[in-house]
Amino acid sequence: MAGGIRSLRTPGRLGELGVITRREAALRLDIPLEMATRHDIPTRMTEREFGELEAEPPPWLLQSRANRTGKLVWVQLRCDICGFTEAARPKKWWPEFTYLTCDFHRADEIPQPAPGLYRREVEGIGTRFIGVVDEKP
Ligand SMILES: [Zn+2]
Repeated sequence: MAGGIRSLRTPGRLGELGVITRREAALRLDIPLEMATRHDIPTRMTEREFGELEAEPPPWLLQSRANRTGKLVWVQLRCDICGFTEAARPKKWWPEFTYLTCDFHRADEIPQPAPGLYRREVEGIGTRFIGVVDEKP
């Protein structure tokens, strides 16, 4: 499984060659992927093209930034056990997580909930994360 993790952990590999994907461009611009698609951000662009986009943002990008409500469009999920990370769009239904683990682990690998707190697990966070929520009953 380690190989699988590693291959997922290298979204920057193309970036090292001076080319980034649309997804990475969306991440860096902090805009939804759908918006990047709708405004014809190419599926691959060079670092130079990206730099030009950032230096002279098109009107739709300026508009998007002006409309920003302060809500993060992307968040970085991080496994509290192995450190695996993944960028994801936060969902309205996500509760406040006490811990996050990727689905390679079991919740008993993280510290037990504090006395008096009740633990529940929320599956389906990102593509492979389980959210652990310790809360008062
Ligand atoms: Zn993990």
